[in-house]
Amino acid sequence: MFDDVRAFIRNLYPEKDFIALHEPYFAGNEKKYVLDCIDSTYVSSVGKYVDRFEQMMADFTGAKYAIATMNGTAALHVALMLVGVGREDEVITQPLTFVATCNAIAYVGAKPVFVDVDRDTLGMSAQSLKDFLHQHAVLRDGACWNRISGKKISAVLPMHTFGHPCRIDEIAALCEEYKIPLVEDSAESLGSYYKGVHTGRFGKVGVMSFNGNKTITTGGGGIVITDDPVLAKRAKHMTTTSKRPHPYEYVHDEVGYNYRLPNINAALGCAQLESLPLILQNKRELAKKYQVFFLKHEIKFVSEPSNAQSNFWLNAILLADETQRNSFLEETNSHKVMTRPVWKLMNRLEMYKDCFCMPLVNSEWIEERLVNIPSSCFFQSS
Ligand SMILES: *Cc1c(COP(=O)(O)O)cnc(C)c1O
Repeated sequence: MFDDVRAFIRNLYPEKDFIALHEPYFAGNEKKYVLDCIDSTYVSSVGKYVDRFEQMMADFTGAKYAIATMNGTAALHVALMLVGVGREDEVITQPLTFVATCNAIAYVGAKPVFVDVDRDTLGMSAQSLKDFLHQHAVLRDGACWNRISGKKISAVLPMHTFGHPCRIDEIAALCEEYKIPLVEDSAESLGSYYKGVHTGRFGKVGVMSFNGNKTITTGGGGIVITDDPVLAKRAKHMTTTSKRPHPYEYVHDEVGYNYRLPNINAALGCAQLESLPLILQNKRELAKKYQVFFLKHEIKFVSEPSNAQSNFWLNAILLADETQRNSFLEETNSHKVMTRPVWKLMNRLEMYKDCFCMPLVNSEWIEERLVNIPSSCFFQSS
């Protein structure tokens, strides 16, 4: 039934037998920098590549500070601690996300509150957030409280789904109005911009991931970006076991975390960042090819939202209904073309099923129909 789709995808990756959803692309200085690390013996928690990677990330995103971590989930955990999310607090997020978003909220002892997403951006709906705040929020002592649950609302955590920026300026304005810190889960959106500003830069803190399946990879890795020097300093401190600088003494002044990115991972990251413009350009071309193809075949392709420049991390299509989605998944995967449904909504998972939800009409609509299709750079030779 979807023979033509399969043939089209196969044609994009002619040298592949099994076509993965997203493979890393190594064509630059990756081997050179990693070997340099090994030769220097500085493979672990100190070394020049970590500093260099952080500087490159700050330069690329336009953020004043960037603090590398061992993965994106750790970066999210740190970000929520930085803005002061405490136990029993509430953090507003979206149910259509990867589980790490909610897990980070749980790590600090807070609870997710789910507002809906928009159908065009797949990210947090500013309207649903506004409705929630109108119905629940009160300002007291310079903070925002949920007058129904009695809990403090201590962060809003939107996610830029598959690299498509959500309406982040409207969300930022609501956060401003209600005095709630904004943290962006921009794990998927390195190289994505909203109204010309890099995602992750609209709130107090932004977070990115460099896991093996993301736009660029450090093997495992993440980053916290911020313009606030105090938060930046705290982030570095917390992620390095809260050790006070001293020539030889071990003094740790609070419970810290060993969340640093090892130098060998940062070395890989530096090389990957050098290739990022090329990767982004390739992924944009790929998305264009898909868009033209699916338009002809009357399947809805998820295209770039207005006011936004997407990195097109994972391309996605929307099938007519769940039955068609399932046959698409069945047919492509059984023919070694990897496709995946969107994540099961967070409010359906055992550990988050009791969390408060706004009406989730769009999230549910997307959950039934969306499929991710192969999105690796298409010029690679195996
Ligand atoms: C990948 C991802 C993360 C976590 O990143 P890791 O590096 O895998 O820990 C967090 N949130 C979202 C939305 C992601 O896609």
